[in-house]
Amino acid sequence: MKLNTKLWFDPSRLLVGGTWRDAEGGGSIPVENPSTGEAVASIAAGTPGDVEAAVRAAEAALDGEWGAMTATERGRILIRWARLVEERAETLAHLESTDVGKPITQARNDATALARYFEFYGGAADKVMGETIPYQAGTTVLTLREPHGVTAHIIPWNYPMQILGRSIGAALAMGNACVLKPAEDASLSALAVAALAEEAGLPAGALNVVTGYGDEVGAALSAHPRVHHVSFTGSVGTGRRIQSAAAENVVPVTLELGGKSPHIVFDDCDLEAALPTLVGACIQAAGQTCSAASRVLVQRGIYAEVKAKMAAAYGRLVAGPASGGFDLGPLVSGRQKAIVTRYIAQGRDELTVAAEGRIDDDAPAKGHYVAPVLFADVPADHALAQEEIFGPVQVMIPFEDEAEAIRIANGTDYGLVAGVWTENGARQMRLARRLHCGQVFVNNYGAGGGVELPFGGVGKSGHGREKGFEALYGFSRLKTVSIRHG
Ligand code: NAD
Repeated sequence: MKLNTKLWFDPSRLLVGGTWRDAEGGGSIPVENPSTGEAVASIAAGTPGDVEAAVRAAEAALDGEWGAMTATERGRILIRWARLVEERAETLAHLESTDVGKPITQARNDATALARYFEFYGGAADKVMGETIPYQAGTTVLTLREPHGVTAHIIPWNYPMQILGRSIGAALAMGNACVLKPAEDASLSALAVAALAEEAGLPAGALNVVTGYGDEVGAALSAHPRVHHVSFTGSVGTGRRIQSAAAENVVPVTLELGGKSPHIVFDDCDLEAALPTLVGACIQAAGQTCSAASRVLVQRGIYAEVKAKMAAAYGRLVAGPASGGFDLGPLVSGRQKAIVTRYIAQGRDELTVAAEGRIDDDAPAKGHYVAPVLFADVPADHALAQEEIFGPVQVMIPFEDEAEAIRIANGTDYGLVAGVWTENGARQMRLARRLHCGQVFVNNYGAGGGVELPFGGVGKSGHGREKGFEALYGFSRLKTVSIRHG
């Protein structure tokens, strides 16, 4: 193993019912460092049998110590967990950046965000309540917020710590028992964080982690008849399969899927304030962000100026090893690099390259590096302006007026985030209302925003909301109680 750090868990094992064990059948999956292409560890290749054991362990936790805890006690565990994440943040960041190729500074931000998720949900755990409802004389009606029971969490590789935090944090705060399936390309941080939960005092079985392949572990988990809620973050195709599987059991599903989010730049905006964000909101995590602002719509009057300034910024971008302080790390895998490279080749054939960055000369040849590319004057219906690329590729599209901007912005199958840059207050309000998406950022672009902000999509970007209090409502169900007392 070449993780170059002392660990408090064994990455090759699963966590089921408080016990770290090998996968049934003993299978394993190599863990590759995308910066170098070298194998650095291995994780367990879980099976449907391991999923069954994890669901049974979660049920036992609900019937035992975990199910008997008060909301305040659950909240305190989450807050202790947050403090442990902060204490081990540097190792967590190192693991994440080795596992997925994320620059170490961005991985540190993810560890900080994870701690904040646990802190927020820990504090909120005992502040979600039912209500009493005026009804007939002689009757008292009240509502109770109850956990769903066993919740499944299937997460992707791009922001493993943040997505784990927003999903598991909210589910545990509401008293569910969780089975987590991290992505096969990014399981190290999930295992590390689960081991910290034990230290924070989370009872055995409240959180189980089954690593493995999606079509084995993920499929078995989403179709499991005794799972009561499925939370999924990942691609549209997988989301569709998961929703179909869960439909067989008639259980609720939260889907956080992809995006093709626009920045809409009007000629009355503060361009100097906008410029760093126009580029940064796409190349963060090498473009592997669901809310990456991969389309930049610019009003014609300032189009040439914005193009020249963005091109200059692209000319300075350098991709290199995650530990090296570069603007971008490698992509997560050879497979992802092949997908992105195909899109870039199509763009070179059919579009105009406005500018590109470069790969550092000393970057290891086997790393999965892609130089960022900016395409200009892209027709709004071109594949590169419609499809999620999930790499450092951005397209610029000119528009005449507000109506055309809205039409182009709304003209994809997705609807996750939109950025609007204008000083015109009335226009800000009009766009906020007319854009088809889950969140609109005006004169800023927070990607997903903080833990306090509900987050999710419309259209093929998914449905349901995570983060904020909305997540706590989503990870619980309402029971109405009517008591006739005369
Ligand atoms: P993916 O769908 O391939 O995999 C996501 C997870 O699903 C992994 O854990 C994988 O093992 C599992 N999986 C794969 N096949 C499965 C199956 N048949 N049944 C059950 N589980 C299965 O997605 P990815 O390539 O890892 O992630 C990239 C995608 O995630 C992008 O489209 C991106 O936009 C999206 N994403 C969305 C958000 C959001 O909040 N909206 C956040 C991050 C990523």
